[in-house]
Formats: sequence, C-alpha cells, structure tokens
Amino acid sequence: MNLLKDKICIVTGGGHGIGRATADTFIDAGATVIIADFDDKTGTATADDLGEQCSFVNTDVSNTDSVQELVQTVKEQHGRIDVLVNNAGILQDQTLEKMDEDQFDRVLQVNLRGVFLCTKYAAEVMREQGSGVILNASSVVARFGNFGQTNYVAAKAGLEGMTKVWARELGKHGIRVNAVAPGFIQTDMTAQMPEKIIKMMEDKVPLKRWGQPEEVANLYCFLASDDAAYISGAVLHIDGGVVV
Ligand code: NAP
Repeated sequence: MNLLKDKICIVTGGGHGIGRATADTFIDAGATVIIADFDDKTGTATADDLGEQCSFVNTDVSNTDSVQELVQTVKEQHGRIDVLVNNAGILQDQTLEKMDEDQFDRVLQVNLRGVFLCTKYAAEVMREQGSGVILNASSVVARFGNFGQTNYVAAKAGLEGMTKVWARELGKHGIRVNAVAPGFIQTDMTAQMPEKIIKMMEDKVPLKRWGQPEEVANLYCFLASDDAAYISGAVLHIDGGVVV
C-alpha cells in the first residue's frame, strides 16, 4: 500500500493494455500519473476514467519535439519526474522476405528510438533532482527471437542493451534503470494474433495461461518503489515460466 506515495510518474502508451493497467496500479499505490500516448481520444478517456491523480499529454515517443514538450509540461506542472515507464510499443510483424524497410524503420522508431528519446530528456530532470527510476518494456522474444519479428526483436534486444548502459551511466545520479520482459500478456496488441497461434503459445507456458496486464503492472510498481532500491541494470522476466 502506498508504495508510490506522491511520486510523479510518466507512463508512455498508457492509454491501453499494460500501460493503462500500470497507470491504474500506480495511482492505487499513491502516485500521480501522466499518460503519454499517441491517441487523443483513448488518452483522454483513460485519464478521465482513472481520476484526478491522472492526466494525459498527447505524445509521439518517436518524435523529439513531442517528447521534449512532454517533459517540459510535466516539469512545469509537477516540478519533478520520479518514474518513467517506457511502455509504448507497436508490432508490424512480417517474415524477413516480406518485411519492407518502412516496417523495419517504424518499429525501431517507436520501440527503440522512442525509449532513447524519453529516457534522454526525462533523465535530464532526474539528474537535476538526484533521483529517479526508469523502467523499459522489453519482451521474452529479446532472448529467444520470434518468427516474423525481425524489427520487434531488434528493438527489444537493443532496449535491453540500453538499459544496462544507462544503469551504468545514471547510477551515480541516484537513478535506477531496469527492464521488464513479459511473455504472453492478454492485450489489444496480442489480440491481433491468429487464434491458432494464441492457443499454441498458451500450450508453451508452464502455467498454462496468458498473463494479465495487471500482473505486469504489479512488477512495474514494485520496481518503481523504494522496496527495489538496490535493483538496477536488471531484466526481469514475467512470463509464467516460458523462459525455462
Ligand atoms: P498495446 O495494448 O498495443 O498498447 C500500446 C500503447 O502504446 C497504445 O496505447 C498505443 O497507442 C501506444 N503507442 C503506440 N505508438 C506510440 C507512439 N509513437 N507514441 C506514444 N504512444 C504510442 O500494447 P501492450 O500489449 O499493452 O504492450 C505494452 C508494451 O509491452 C509494449 O512495449 C510491448 O512491446 C510490451 N510487451 C507486450 C507483451 C504482450 O504480450 N502484450 C509482451 C511483451 C512485451 P495507440 O493505441 O493510440 O496506437
């Protein structure tokens, strides 16, 4: 309870899925949450649903001006940034032979460049205040690869690498940086997959079920809190045992 009392937290891609569940869980834990999402309609509706501790700033994480504006707005309105959850992500799956350059570039722009930009500008504020937590959304596929996901896997593996670099660079400023690697979690993103694949994936999980967004949100909440004060540079898997 109150693990994140009075913390100012940005959750990118907080309009849907794991991001929305994370915003909700953080608010329950006492935080103020700024949802930074692409889509005005969903972002505003989610912020309204989650109540007065939640607000929405329209943000494209892959665009420098947009990210700078987000950080400036949060700094002006709240004076600090305690936690950044780099959750926004997209899929554009295709086998190597069919994946075109635009599909490769777009996924890298959002899932890798977006994490770089948000961290670069939020970390400026965190450095000034001498504290902060950065949490990056990876995936089990960063370790195993996945059919049809050249672009997505490249981004997630790169993100895990950046997590370790930033843990080294930012630790002396009191900033912790970790990645969370979910397995199969039931959200709009995974609902795009064919039924046959969904069933096949479920069979591979030792716990024999998909994870829920709230279960990932609980892990983010722990990592964002002072209970995780000595955890940095880690990649934590949350996947029902699928990596075993
Ligand atoms: P989701 O339901 O598709 O939500 C992703 C959110 O990111 C959406 O609200 C989306 O907004 C937003 N977004 C997309 N592009 C953006 C941009 N350029 N700037 C700002 N926001 C943007 O996805 P999810 O399943 O919750 O996944 C969340 C994260 O966990 C992702 O990074 C994903 O790769 C990772 N992950 C998910 C799973 C899983 O099984 N679900 C497994 C491993 C890792 P719009 O809807 O408006 O486009």
